[in-house]
Amino acid sequence: MHDTTARTEHRLRRFVAERLETAGYRSRTPLTVTAWEVPDEPVPFAEALSQTYTPFEIGSPWGRPWSTVWFHLRGQVPAEWAQDLAADGAGAVRLELLVDLGFSGAGPGFQTEGAIWSSDGVLLKGLEPRNHYLPLDVAPGEWVDLYVEAAANPDVPNGQWIKPTPMGDKATAGTEEIYELRAADLALLDVDVWELNQDVDALQGLMLELPATSPRRAQILRALEDMLDAVDPDDLAGTAAVGRERLADVLAAPAHASAHRLHAVGHAHIDSAWLWPVRETVRKCARTFSNVLNLMDADPDVTFACSSAQQYAWMKEFYPELYARIAQRVREGRFIPVGGMWVESDTNMPGGEALARQFVAGTQFFIDEFGVEPKEVWLPDSFGYTAALPQIARASGKEFLLTQKISWNDTNSFPHHTFAWAGTDGTRIFTHFPPVDTYNSMINGAELAKAERQYAEKGRANSSLLPYGYGDGGGGPTREMLAAARRTADLEGSPKVTLSTPEAFFTQARAEYADPPTWTGEMYLEYHRGTYTSQHRTKAGNRRSEHLLREAELWATAATVRAGADYPADALQRIWRLVLLQQFHDILPGSSIAWVHREAERNYALIEAELEALIGTALGHLAGSGDDRIALNAGPFPRAGVPALGGAAVGGSVEPGGATIEPDGEGWVLRNAHLRVVVDPRGLVTSLRDLTADREVVPAGMAANLLQVHRDIPNEWDAWDIDAHYRHVVRDLDTAEEIVAEPAGDGATTARLVVRRRFGSSTITQRLELIDGSLEITTEVDWHERQKLLKLAFPIDVQAERATSEIQFGHIHRPTATNTSWDAARFETVAHRWVHVGEAGYGVAVANDQTYGHDIRADLDPAGRPITVVRQSLLRAPLFPDPDADQGEHVLRSSIRPGAGIAESVREGYRMNLHVRTVTGSGALVAPLVRTDNDAVVIEAVKLAEDGSGDVIVRLYESLGGRARAAVTADFPVISVTETDLLERPRNDGSGALTQADGGSATVALRPFQICTLRFAR
Ligand SMILES: [Zn+2]
Repeated sequence: MHDTTARTEHRLRRFVAERLETAGYRSRTPLTVTAWEVPDEPVPFAEALSQTYTPFEIGSPWGRPWSTVWFHLRGQVPAEWAQDLAADGAGAVRLELLVDLGFSGAGPGFQTEGAIWSSDGVLLKGLEPRNHYLPLDVAPGEWVDLYVEAAANPDVPNGQWIKPTPMGDKATAGTEEIYELRAADLALLDVDVWELNQDVDALQGLMLELPATSPRRAQILRALEDMLDAVDPDDLAGTAAVGRERLADVLAAPAHASAHRLHAVGHAHIDSAWLWPVRETVRKCARTFSNVLNLMDADPDVTFACSSAQQYAWMKEFYPELYARIAQRVREGRFIPVGGMWVESDTNMPGGEALARQFVAGTQFFIDEFGVEPKEVWLPDSFGYTAALPQIARASGKEFLLTQKISWNDTNSFPHHTFAWAGTDGTRIFTHFPPVDTYNSMINGAELAKAERQYAEKGRANSSLLPYGYGDGGGGPTREMLAAARRTADLEGSPKVTLSTPEAFFTQARAEYADPPTWTGEMYLEYHRGTYTSQHRTKAGNRRSEHLLREAELWATAATVRAGADYPADALQRIWRLVLLQQFHDILPGSSIAWVHREAERNYALIEAELEALIGTALGHLAGSGDDRIALNAGPFPRAGVPALGGAAVGGSVEPGGATIEPDGEGWVLRNAHLRVVVDPRGLVTSLRDLTADREVVPAGMAANLLQVHRDIPNEWDAWDIDAHYRHVVRDLDTAEEIVAEPAGDGATTARLVVRRRFGSSTITQRLELIDGSLEITTEVDWHERQKLLKLAFPIDVQAERATSEIQFGHIHRPTATNTSWDAARFETVAHRWVHVGEAGYGVAVANDQTYGHDIRADLDPAGRPITVVRQSLLRAPLFPDPDADQGEHVLRSSIRPGAGIAESVREGYRMNLHVRTVTGSGALVAPLVRTDNDAVVIEAVKLAEDGSGDVIVRLYESLGGRARAAVTADFPVISVTETDLLERPRNDGSGALTQADGGSATVALRPFQICTLRFAR
């Protein structure tokens, strides 16, 4: 036979584009439209209903950026449609509402969206690009009366994901209307034509993925050719059924026995804020979930996996009617809560207790609301995964973990799709990356073939998960996707698609692959390395809030136990939930629009004020009346004579003084009992001498406290990425405008050296002071640069093979060399409160109070001797999506502590983040509620139980990476001590740490980095 493949494929493409995709509706009739524009922020339906609507012409512009317009649509179903609507079987039609808000080519969720309401206030369905119909059950001659809440969300990137834009804030986006209402019609959908379109789509998609030489491919092509001959383009409606018959045989051919099996789960990744503010996410959830419920009404097999307790909580608060319908579908097992976190948070930066609370708050919400406990972690989109996650997940009852983000790596391909992931403490969790490499699948032929082709475990296992539905900005599954799933359920040449649930998938996947390979340690994302630093004020707010929450819970617990004060459980829950929301994977990472970060900063200020008030109230109860000066230490280690987690009466200052500053030639010398620091006329530290060890820390000929400014223009993804080429261009800030010694007094407890610098349009003031064995540096920056990265460098005279960085409940080691492509790609890394570098017998800690980004590498001093350079990433200034990111004032504290091991580094991290507070009173009630007798065992949280029982919960962990036994003793009457999981439920799985409980004292035996939660019943 002559080869006509290319010509026939071409003929098919033209038919699809010109006839099939544009057909579909037999008749249309416009509705009468009136409109009301909301003056400012969105309003509820009842408020919109009571407004005055004015006539609105189809084709007119509407919608200032971020505004809302309510359209009232009215009209009669034409009586002459009665005959069409009566037809059944071949030639059948369906009555639908069709609205085109002026949809652009941008994807769903990245432009205008709407919500269709009934006139009595039921949210019927979302209106999205590519999904803007509503099925209607209205008889000919009857009236249709509906409302559309249209959101004029601008397309912020507008196709250019690096270009600065004012669209990311209502205040700067302008007032020009950006959409045009193109249609609001009643229409008759030709069912046969629509079904033919789905047949062709599935077959064409499959065909194009099959090898050119495959008989199956040729067979499909010829069937499609027969269809083209049979269908009359001038009478699609009349001939579509015949066309479908021509395709019936190729659609009926069953899949190969070895075909890959895909568990398709409806999904809508809805970023809790990103290129839209949090308030719009609330509406995005409502639109998407109403789409899902509408689809479920039409098709009993549809399932939908939905993570983020926060998004359910929004529905409960703002859309109670919709929430009741969701709850019904949850009970039926079709609307499926997954993940069990409060939001799909970042996992690099949240502190240990906060990451634990993501699971506690989220899972407890699902249990309380629905009696459902998700068994999987659901984090398809977060920017890398901390090595602490397996333990935290398992300790909150999770058995599985899902992501796919590591497929975004820019350098190395992750070797597995289904595997056991082992964390810092050795805990393993069964983990799956959908090989389709997207959480927004449309179930098209290319995606299905990709999933089968890429699946790395083939030969050992043969199943993967397929999350389908429009996402990022929401939208969710569509009837077209379901049609594709149905056609590929058992289709020769295609993987087999089953409408399924996450639980069914994981259960089967674990059964078919009982002994999967293991990946140990963090899952570093080789991408988005700027997210540890962008939008610094958001990060500073997070760090501060986490530590204030620790203090507030500790002191409020003490005030309740010691003084009978009310425990502010509701306030703490509300604040925790807000802190957890802002750890969402586009807020804390700094990748959202200006609006989001402006709001986040305002929220952190409110959180700080409220927590300070709670702390003040609690300390008032504890301090009692009197004139003594009482110092209180919320940290886990004693400090300046004040016990850990308690208080003591003190005489003078609790911060150590005793440091001196002397001029030294052209520079200065700072000195105390531990350190002698030389600062040269450039304001740089040329010598940092550890007097105890009699050792110099700064390599000869180099300088610490060196601020360095890099050009920082990534190839794409401004706020997200630092590209490796940033290193090529650097300027050292090595001229000081002024250096002044400030003596102690006047508020300062120790002498300080103040160094002022100017760079570009920015000014930087640093204060250097000695606090015991640490050189502490406070850097005040008034930052007005664009696309620059500010680093603070500490060259250190140790030959460290690896750097140690604090993460949640412990630390990890990363090589300082760049031997492998994996090491080289890890050129910017995240750490929490401290990093440590050392060699046998000697090490140095570099700590911070709000910095996360670091780079630590092996280098040479000017004489060619090996050294290690630690740099903190202080500030960036990306231009997209917030053109003014990081502009303005920042105050960051850093410290370098010579002669530190890991234990001293842990202490330094807490010291830098928790201040000793002083109050006046008698101090009668400030003794620590609980203490441990082993410094390796760190108490991370002291709080009252979530169940309101009044029991005291104490969470602790092994901090050094070894075995540790400790007695944990309560200083209050205790009935019993039990070990619990993170949700404070009894832990009886045999892997716990509690070995003995005796009255108010418990003995724990911890493995490296093990977390232990104890419940002290009162
Ligand atoms: Zn996302």
